[in-house]
Amino acid sequence: TQGLMNGKRGLIMGVANNKSIAWGIAKALSDAGAELALTYQGDALKKRVEPLAEQLGAFVAGHCDVTDPATMDAVFNGLEEKWGKIDFLVHAVAFSDKDELTGRYVDTTAANFDRTMNISVYSLTAVTQRAEKLMADGGSILTLTYYGAEKVMPHYNVMGVAKAALEASVKYLAMDLGPKNIRVNAISAGPIKTLAASGIGDFRYILKWNEYNSPLRRNVTIEDVGNGALYLLSDMGAGVTGEIQHVDCGYNIVGMKAVDAPDI
Ligand code: NAD
Repeated sequence: TQGLMNGKRGLIMGVANNKSIAWGIAKALSDAGAELALTYQGDALKKRVEPLAEQLGAFVAGHCDVTDPATMDAVFNGLEEKWGKIDFLVHAVAFSDKDELTGRYVDTTAANFDRTMNISVYSLTAVTQRAEKLMADGGSILTLTYYGAEKVMPHYNVMGVAKAALEASVKYLAMDLGPKNIRVNAISAGPIKTLAASGIGDFRYILKWNEYNSPLRRNVTIEDVGNGALYLLSDMGAGVTGEIQHVDCGYNIVGMKAVDAPDI
């Protein structure tokens, strides 16, 4: 992959720590020669993101909370000043109240439904609007989704509904921006133990279930997702847009429990 991203610059949103999927993507892109900018959400994460950015020689593009449009404007204005244009954008952002990532979907509150949809779905469109202005020469945008968009997964609840809407957004954005040679894709990642995932009920059970029942009989790593992202964000993916690419050790093709799966 060395040199695959030479001369390309872009923004990665969603690094919280070194377990974040966004961090796996940042490492893969940096190893391939990309120049990166990272945002962080709030002061607590600033302390974690700054040293990680330094490891990759990445630009710290500042605080960005997708519920606060002024912070998004500040980040994209800063990038315009620094680089003039960008080649790619990674959106690895999602949130829902953890009290509703357990129990029944039917009990979802209106307030948490709106907040989940705003942070986890609309934000892709909000940042794409801003990125479009910096992608006069074309570009590639990537978001992260999960199989809970397609099938009912335990405890995923409102986040599953949000991911379904996110996947539809990817397709609509891809159609709108295709004429400008801006590609929009998603990676549907298998379960990975991250800060966000720790809010999901029985997450360890879900990890074991995927390990025992996916064709590759293991879970994905953030490095696996990083390499999938490299394909979609580099010119290797030049003919691909509006795609929901599974990077899940094949779990999504499976119809029932593997006969060799041990009890959990
Ligand atoms: P993570 O906790 O490392 O990252 C989530 C990020 O979202 C954090 O950096 C957080 O700061 C950011 N965020 C939340 N609310 C925000 C807001 N209002 N404004 C700006 N940023 C905000 O967890 P992760 O698992 O790496 O999550 C990244 C993406 O991958 C999410 O979209 C998640 O749904 C998706 N995903 C995760 C898994 C998994 O099993 N971990 C599987 C498939 C998809």
